[in-house]
Amino acid sequence: MTSGGAERIDLKGMTLPELEEFLSRWGKERYRARQVFRWIYQRHADDFSAMTDLSKELRGILAATCRISGFPAERIETSADGTEKYLFRLEDGEAVECVLIPDEGRRTLCISSQVGCPLQCGFCATGEAGFRRNMTSAEIVQQACFVAKRLAEREERLSNVVFMGMGEPLLNVPEVSRTIGILLSQFGFGISGKRVTVSTAGIVPEMLPLALRYPVSFAVSINAARDDLRSLLMPVNRRYPLKEVVHAMRQIPLQSGRKVSAEYVLLSGVNDSTEDALALSRLLRGARIKVNLIPYNPHTASPYRAPDAETLNRFRNILVAGGVQTITRQRRGADIRAACGQLRAEAGGKRS
Ligand code: SAH
Repeated sequence: MTSGGAERIDLKGMTLPELEEFLSRWGKERYRARQVFRWIYQRHADDFSAMTDLSKELRGILAATCRISGFPAERIETSADGTEKYLFRLEDGEAVECVLIPDEGRRTLCISSQVGCPLQCGFCATGEAGFRRNMTSAEIVQQACFVAKRLAEREERLSNVVFMGMGEPLLNVPEVSRTIGILLSQFGFGISGKRVTVSTAGIVPEMLPLALRYPVSFAVSINAARDDLRSLLMPVNRRYPLKEVVHAMRQIPLQSGRKVSAEYVLLSGVNDSTEDALALSRLLRGARIKVNLIPYNPHTASPYRAPDAETLNRFRNILVAGGVQTITRQRRGADIRAACGQLRAEAGGKRS
């Protein structure tokens, strides 16, 4: 933490328009904000004295009144398959995790947007520990800042960001929107919208407004093709049932050739039957939706299991035969408990 602490204004987590607004109060031109933004997100500066292309006067003002927050990972675990899991301790002692998934040329970071999660999906490790609070944009983006800096040191680049870590991003829209603004800005991370994916359990009223504001990709956790089963697995379905969720998915504007993803976590004996596959195929047929089949990643005390390879293939083949584009997600990082929530559960949510 920067000395002087919390009463200083934190520049991390502000969007570029917010930073421009902020600096204009001292009569500073717009390009000054772009310079500061670049220093923070492209050159990983945490200290104003490093910002040598700013005037001495401006550096002085910033150093006296502002700070650039940041925290290192408290723990890093590397899987045999190259997946890296990071545990971050926030300034108030709470903990969140994110996972870096290298895959050929891609470096995909799966980030958290809330400490814990209020949605309580029965199969998810994050829900078990309950909901603590929303993360700020400074905290959300710090996950990307920390990992991008590490990648730069080994001449690699963060290429994709997915909001599939802890929490429900669409229950924290203001801070998630700021983060997306920083990720997409050419003066920030400069990542294209198609490489930033917001994953939601289906908070229907927030989906279209966010899609209209930012050209990001959407993934929606479907997990069951019938309302009774989905409500059992995902209580949020009682509020936003399948029909409304699929309708909202169909409304998302898409550039040609692109699709919204429907995530479907396969739970052995629960949602992996032939009837389930046929129902899912009927539900999505004709829509520009592709299915992401995710074999369940088991965690301690969970009653659920992943289906065997044969069941998974049968399920997939039914979807494909029904004309639904289907991708099976490889299980990664199993040896480092990369299913969301697991590392935090073990490390303890809050240090006393
Ligand atoms: N709240 C958001 C984002 C976080 S969950 C959402 O629901 O989409 C991200 C994805 O991980 C969801 O599709 C969820 O169904 C899935 N998931 C959660 N726990 C899992 C586990 N143990 N194994 C496999 N996938 C899991």
